[in-house]
Amino acid sequence: MPNDSPTDELVIRNGRVLDPASGRDEMADVLVRNGRVEAIAPELDSQATETIDARGCLVAPGLVDPHVHLREPGGEDKETIATGTRAAIAGGFTTVCCMPNTAPTLDSVQALEFVHSRAEDSAACRVFVVAAATLGRQGEQIAPIDSLLRAGAVGISDDGDVVASPRMMRQVLACCAQHDAVFMQHAQEPSLTEGASMNAGVTATKLGLRGWPKIAEELIVERDIRLLGETGGRYHVQHVSSGTTVELIRNARASGLQVSGEASPHHLLLDDRACEGYDTMAKMNPPLRSEADIHALRQGVADGTITVLATDHAPHTLEEKALDFESAPFGIVGLECALALYAKALIDTGLIDWPRLIELLSIEPARLVGLADQGVGRLEVGLPADITIIDPDCAWTIRRDDFVGKGRNCPFEGWAVKGRAVNTLIEGTPMPAGAANSILK
Ligand SMILES: [Zn+2]
Repeated sequence: MPNDSPTDELVIRNGRVLDPASGRDEMADVLVRNGRVEAIAPELDSQATETIDARGCLVAPGLVDPHVHLREPGGEDKETIATGTRAAIAGGFTTVCCMPNTAPTLDSVQALEFVHSRAEDSAACRVFVVAAATLGRQGEQIAPIDSLLRAGAVGISDDGDVVASPRMMRQVLACCAQHDAVFMQHAQEPSLTEGASMNAGVTATKLGLRGWPKIAEELIVERDIRLLGETGGRYHVQHVSSGTTVELIRNARASGLQVSGEASPHHLLLDDRACEGYDTMAKMNPPLRSEADIHALRQGVADGTITVLATDHAPHTLEEKALDFESAPFGIVGLECALALYAKALIDTGLIDWPRLIELLSIEPARLVGLADQGVGRLEVGLPADITIIDPDCAWTIRRDDFVGKGRNCPFEGWAVKGRAVNTLIEGTPMPAGAANSILK
């Protein structure tokens, strides 16, 4: 992310400055010089050439999404590093971690270097790689995890697929533990989900679709927690969909294990009835569950069991999503509407407040992927000025045709929401939604 021509001096005035990592929450100005935060104080005296008026807004650390699919290499018709990171900027995210289920798989140092160099050339925000746990994500041979981590991978996952074999899982966990790297599990016991395309329940029966039971997720998480007890290290459950999984994570954390979980906007807001009419926009992996699961997931966020929010941004073409329900691919896009949807699920319901939401979207995911020490997810004097300015009262309507990313696969079309990133800065440079890449070149 070179920034050869940073704004010399920029002052963000009159905002509510939040930095959950340090507990800062005050009305103040933020002075940025040469891409770094120079000062934070009320009514700063500055001759800055550029001013942003943040009255009525939150001035927060740049948001971090630890789970996105940028589809490059191999899926450029769905998304690219260039378009996916523009979607991130539009949604207020300054750092994203991309998953390894590309073609080829991100399971080699060369593949990682490819993504890093493409990001250097074309990304609008910071991109880090979560590398594969096994070669080709086939679950049979362990990937060169040591080298992948040395080459800059920030986590290990076979996302898109589970690491199914307990023997392999133990080996991967042990290897991650040696490096204090987080392992992120896509929890899906494959023998229970063959041919399934939505949650097992009344709606699936009504639609005549094969059901995907919650226990397919829970069994894997339960098994992994037991393995983690042997290996030690850090274990993270991706896109938690089942209320029982929340309970498993809660108990594991209480027993002192380093277990965490993430919630995605759709699992916090939609249940499996969204699949009625065979609506493929509601087809995702793991599938949408029940109202009780939504409730348990929200409670898990409220009581600190679920500490990370992640979009699982999964772009597909409309042609693919136009296939019949069973043939269409799993997944929806998330980056551009996530912030408002989290606010709807968690703030409008009184479960958490804005500072906590920002924490779940900045320092918590930064810690998860080991980037907090590098200043990611924090807004402090001396650190790179990756800043997201949020208008919490901005009312708007989600229109997928307004998205700057390539994906239009979104089940929230037409939803009236509140809260929006109005300005996203990377190293002090404001990046308007859909900004030309040349700004950073
Ligand atoms: Zn996944």
